[in-house]
Amino acid sequence: CGIFGVVGAKDAANFVALGLHALQHRGQEAGGIVSHDPEHGFNSARRFGYVRDNFTNAAVMDTLPGPIAIGHVRYSTAGSKGATAIRDVQPFFGEFSMGGCAIAHNGNITNAVALRRELIERGSIFQSSSDSECIIHLMARSIQKTLAERIKDALRRVEGAFSVIAMTRTKLIGVRDAHGVRPLVLGRIGDSGWALSSETCGLDIIGADFVREIEPGEMVVIEGNRVESTRPFVQATPRFCIFEQVYFSRPDSILLGRSVYETRRMIGVELAREAPVEADLVCPVPDSGTPAAIGFSQESGIPYAMGIIRNQYMGRTFIEPTEHIRNMGVRLKLNVNRALIKGKRVVLVDDSVVRGTTSRKIKEMILEAGAAEVHFRIASPPTAWPCFYGVDTPERSKLLAATMSEDEMRDWIGVNSLKFISLDGLYRAAGEAQGRNAKAPQFCDACFSGEYPVVPSDKIEEGFQM
Ligand code: 5GP
Ligand code: SF4
Ligand code: MG
Repeated sequence: CGIFGVVGAKDAANFVALGLHALQHRGQEAGGIVSHDPEHGFNSARRFGYVRDNFTNAAVMDTLPGPIAIGHVRYSTAGSKGATAIRDVQPFFGEFSMGGCAIAHNGNITNAVALRRELIERGSIFQSSSDSECIIHLMARSIQKTLAERIKDALRRVEGAFSVIAMTRTKLIGVRDAHGVRPLVLGRIGDSGWALSSETCGLDIIGADFVREIEPGEMVVIEGNRVESTRPFVQATPRFCIFEQVYFSRPDSILLGRSVYETRRMIGVELAREAPVEADLVCPVPDSGTPAAIGFSQESGIPYAMGIIRNQYMGRTFIEPTEHIRNMGVRLKLNVNRALIKGKRVVLVDDSVVRGTTSRKIKEMILEAGAAEVHFRIASPPTAWPCFYGVDTPERSKLLAATMSEDEMRDWIGVNSLKFISLDGLYRAAGEAQGRNAKAPQFCDACFSGEYPVVPSDKIEEGFQM
């Protein structure tokens, strides 16, 4: 999901709509904005579909006045899927004795099932099927006197990955979990306003200056010109999601002080070193494979070409929550550039192989177009484990790499060769010159390594074996 908040700017909701538009790649199912102004109190609008189709028209935006607002774009990883219920669309809102509070959450609460059970037994009435709603109910049970303190109390009981943006009548609040699995950054709007955004690309679109990242385990409370920082959680080693670097974030964002584009280009460079091949063309599977394909071409000297053309009117396929649409998705979204491909030995670079359906369809299309050879190079290691921290990977049995070796996957997809970047190569590309520190990994890489930084306790209760 993508989250964005603004305080201290006229018509803050307009900035939030722009910020969410820049974060649309993080969630395409639905979006919502809550704003507050002293005259009208809290207002909200929640809609299915793209930000540009909902939060650009005056009829909606005029209902969201005020100098403070937060918003969310949804990508379902917990709660209803596919036909998302509007009640699951964030931000969530709670009315407390000290005033209202809205929250927007990116990530996944790994003990949400247990928390929900406990809260319902003690009288909470849930409105949605979302894991994030727990935070509001935990706040309601807190005896702290301020909303910010209640958020701390609530989040201390929450396990898993979260970046949260919250707002009260006057305060904008940002928090990251102790491992800092999901991103969150702080920006400055002119000399009076502040913004919080999942990624720096959200700051760029509103012309805000990037100030710094919110740190793992940090909470900031912004009011007027003050940014107050505290550390509410037991300290842990940072474990930022390495898949944000590979796929999830936008390439024009800056993560951990590094350009995402540059990390992805370096993945291609590493891949060309680890798994060279003789070929005529290097083609990305657009858009997610593009920077790595550029790096592969630069390092190998094999010309880069656009052998596959992407229909710009389609969103992200994987992020489509239903399998049916995902299957249709490949042909709706990608087409082979026949004139270029015919008779050529082609290296195809993609970001990941999950179920393998995308790779198999692309191989079919490219052989139909007359390619002489097809070599896949993948910008992440084999995805052998599900993510429980906010990326919607399927259960383990549906992951190709959970049941097959690399050679078996090559034969199943039906290509001349298939190579994945090594975990060490990926870490090097992400700026860790010594590669992965096996004793204390610098990132979360559980979907590749099976080493989960946070025990996924709900899933274990369901029978998942680590
Ligand atoms: P597959 O067809 O192998 O299940 O899906 C792999 C494709 O899904 C890749 O082309 C990748 O770009 C895309 N993708 C989109 N979102 C995600 C995601 O959240 N995780 C992973 N691993 N791949 C994703
Ligand atoms: Fe990211 Fe994978 Fe960890 Fe999920 S399991 S947070 S996708 S690195
Ligand atoms: Mg892709």
